[in-house]
Amino acid sequence: MMKRSPILPEPQPTLGEVHIDIERCKGCELCIDYCPVDVLVMAAEYNVKGYHYPETTNEDCITCQSCFVICPEFAIFATPIKSTQTSPAVGAPA
Ligand code: SF4
Ligand code: SF4
Repeated sequence: MMKRSPILPEPQPTLGEVHIDIERCKGCELCIDYCPVDVLVMAAEYNVKGYHYPETTNEDCITCQSCFVICPEFAIFATPIKSTQTSPAVGAPA
């Protein structure tokens, strides 16, 4: 059986900006549990409903949207801000 070659250059994640609607949040912490790069922590403050809400603790968001998919309140999502990719992907026009 033929072995597949690695994809080169290795695809790099797109860094993102996290948007949180703190007043929609019900403090379930699912977004924190499912973030693969530990961007989110619970804030010490409360929203108007009396729930703690997430806040970002670093700028490592990779725009995976796990937080958006898992949030039952549609209170969080991320948008891309810049790509860390430095060279064009294989097959991309020069
Ligand atoms: S988009 Fe992904 S990496 Fe960014 S905060 Fe949400 S779960 Fe974390
Ligand atoms: S998953 Fe949604 S409701 Fe739960 S803590 Fe995160 S932002 Fe709040």
